Parts: sequence; structure tokens; C-alpha cells
Amino acid sequence: MGKTTIITSPITGFSFEARKWKLHDMERLAELADEADESVDILSEAVRPTWIRTIDPGPYDIKKGADSCPDFTEMLKLDVLHSLFQVRMASWPEDLEKGMTREHYQFDAECAHCKPKYTFPQQVRLSQLKFFPLPKASLEALRSKKPLELRAPDGKLIKYELPKLAQDKDLVAYREKLYGKGKAKTKARPKPSELLAIQCTYVEGLKTQLLSDRIKYFANLDLDEMTPIRNGMSKAGSYVAQKVDCTCDRCKAKFEVRLPLQASFFMPSDPMEEQPPEPETEENPEQQDPDEET
Ligand SMILES: [Zn+2]
Repeated sequence: MGKTTIITSPITGFSFEARKWKLHDMERLAELADEADESVDILSEAVRPTWIRTIDPGPYDIKKGADSCPDFTEMLKLDVLHSLFQVRMASWPEDLEKGMTREHYQFDAECAHCKPKYTFPQQVRLSQLKFFPLPKASLEALRSKKPLELRAPDGKLIKYELPKLAQDKDLVAYREKLYGKGKAKTKARPKPSELLAIQCTYVEGLKTQLLSDRIKYFANLDLDEMTPIRNGMSKAGSYVAQKVDCTCDRCKAKFEVRLPLQASFFMPSDPMEEQPPEPETEENPEQQDPDEET
């Protein structure tokens, strides 16, 4: 099995022993990532097979030991994301080509300013992405399985939960009903009103508490009514620290992107597949896929 690693979440204290990814794990995950970057399952799919035993359940109602694998979709998204980065760093070879290490992740970022569309390689160091401990009240809410509460600017009581992967599934189910199964729209990135509605499980005074009615409520808020709600939720630790600063290598604009999980996150590029080094030139023509065989 190779060396195992102990992963302890700075967010909730949840701790487990994990094995590294095997080649077949990485192949499957790279395939999944290629199919859809916004796939909701890839986070839990990437972490679940590495679980060996739970050392500290943290605030979750799960058993210690090696008998039952926790349902990662019912854990905080941030916990799963943190575990994912740790497994990735433990699994990858220590030193890679071109000064990259196991801590580096190079992905294709799309410039928010260049027209026509321009994508460029952007690097992040996974060890430098910060995770913070949850506030006490939020930990207590997780432990007691009770929602958190706040008052919207219109006076309505809102009950909400911290972000979990399972909530994304609710949204996919809702969209499949609306647009049909397998449609691109069912897997698109959630809109702000949808994100609020899947986390806020109760809004006072709505006709029904169905997801569709909650989405309608949030979509109809004024921007200045939404901001305090979002701020309140984010103080409770209800955010996903997946934002990365980018600088476009063409127009030099700085902007933020949500860290995508592309195939290159899971699979180091194979040096055997790489073409011999080219002489250094200023020109950088469109890269050709060395794999094209057809
Ligand atoms: Zn640009």
C-alpha cells in the first residue's frame, strides 16, 4: 500500500488515515475531470477511496475506526477540499519537471479581460491555500445537526446550513427536472441565487419551502439586500476557499478565478509523452496535442 498519511482538518478537526492515490484512481479521476469540470461528485470521489480509518470524527456523527467509511458528501465541502489537497500532495512524486513539485498545480486559466478568449497556464501552490477553523457556533450547529439562523434585511428569518457536497446534488436534481437529464445547464456553475437557496433550507413566509420557491425568493432580492445575507453566512464559515489570484500573461490584468479541478490536477504530465525541448523562441504558437493519433 505504500506509506499512509494522517489528514487532519484545520476547519473542523476531522482526522483520518488515508492511502495515496493509486494509478487507477488517478486515471479515473483525470477522466472524470475531463468530462465536466463542475462535476459535483469529483471531490468526494477523489477522497473516498483513500480513506482507511477515522481517527477523530470532529463534529460529525460518524464512527471512529476502520469499520465504516464516512459519507464525504455529507461533510463540509471545505473539509473534503482540504483532504483532497492533502491526498494530492501525498500522492504525487516529490519533484517534477520544470521546477514543479507535488505542491504545484498548473491549470488553464481563461483571462477575464482578453478578447478573443485567451487561456494561459497558471500555477498555484496547494500548500499555500489557507483554511481557517470554523467559528464555535458553526461547529456546534454541525454537531447538533441544527441549522444556523439569521435575519434578512426584509426581517424574514432564514435558516441555513454550511456548504456540503450533498446540497449540490439537490441542485442537479432540481435542474434535471427543469431542463432534462444530461443537459449542459444541469451541470453549469451554480448562480448566486441558487447557491443561497440550496444552503438556506428555510425562509420565513414563503408559500412552500421547495427549492424552486427559495430560488425565486433570492433571485428577487435587491443586490443590497443580498449582501448582508451573504456576509452573515460567510462569517459562519460558509464559504469555499477556492479562489485563486491570476495574472494574465498577455494583457497583465489581475483577476480572481475559482480554482478548477482539471485533469492535470490528478495526473502529472508524462515526461515520456513530452516532445523534445524546443529551442527558446519568443513565438508561442497554439500548442498541438501530442496524442493525436486519428
Ligand atoms: Zn488577458
